[in-house]
Amino acid sequence: MDFESQLKEFESHYSNLKDRDQIAEDLGPHTFVLKSKKRAHETKDIDLLFLALIHGNEVGGVAVLNHVLKSMTEGKFKPDIKMAFALGNVEAGFKNSRFVEKDLNRIFGTYETATHEDRRARELETLLKRSRYILDIHQTIEPTASPFFIFGFDKKSFVMAHTIAPSLPIISYSINERKENGLVATSYAIEQGGVAVTAELGQKGFDHTQLDLGYGLCRRAYWYVKNQRLHALKNFFLSIVLRKSKPHADDKILIFSYRHLNEGATNNLMPGFTNFMDIKKGQKLGVSSKGDILSPLDGKILFPKYGQAKQESKELFVILEQLNVQNFLKRFNLTL
Ligand SMILES: [Zn+2]
Repeated sequence: MDFESQLKEFESHYSNLKDRDQIAEDLGPHTFVLKSKKRAHETKDIDLLFLALIHGNEVGGVAVLNHVLKSMTEGKFKPDIKMAFALGNVEAGFKNSRFVEKDLNRIFGTYETATHEDRRARELETLLKRSRYILDIHQTIEPTASPFFIFGFDKKSFVMAHTIAPSLPIISYSINERKENGLVATSYAIEQGGVAVTAELGQKGFDHTQLDLGYGLCRRAYWYVKNQRLHALKNFFLSIVLRKSKPHADDKILIFSYRHLNEGATNNLMPGFTNFMDIKKGQKLGVSSKGDILSPLDGKILFPKYGQAKQESKELFVILEQLNVQNFLKRFNLTL
């Protein structure tokens, strides 16, 4: 599998759906809304949006969306909710890089239009605003011990993530506290009243286990959204197909407890860190111009950056701490 063949496949699924008069709207390149018999909701008329390739080198999500589209073009999957699909940054995909000029996943909710990514963000915002539920598929730079969800805390989004994949860790943060870092697509969608989760399938590239996981998430997200309607119809029997699990005070959540800002060429991590690796307080994690970088707490390391990825990031690494939901809410002054 490679990016260009996956992109061609995506385009052929699109043409197939277009030929069969299934496309309702085009909202930019590789961005479309499917027709639906369902009566349109007022402002949020798209029930479910699947997003991939917001980062151009996280190509695994394209294969996942192709799998979903293939099941439609083969007639095996006939959605009866209004769905939309989008590939975020195809230009960066051709370069096999995270972005061309700006990290697309840090610039939602601004008014800039100077770069390719600014313009693409403005285009995608239209789609994000109209979507009730969003699954945004990403991959990590380094290997990860477990796939995971990561998104700004929102009760409905937490419930969705917890329901569609109860065993995946959920990493969360207060959207307000991370605003200075720039808004990611799902935070923007949540601020616009949508329910949105970001899934990190594993290390970037094409991988069959990740494809299965991503396809499973898409299927369950579909049933989850469909179930919201069934639930509204008070159809008890069908509503237990996918039971909603309310966040419980004891549910676990991981937070960014410490962020080490990237000082550039003078700071470097020790080699070999991967996502979710356990680290101890006082452990030597790297070196900087000021001396050794020691971990200020016990936790798990996330997003360790080396090489090119380090050059492109404001963060060298993050340390996660596990809390229960009750303490998480208290820490960030949030309520359920
Ligand atoms: Zn990403």
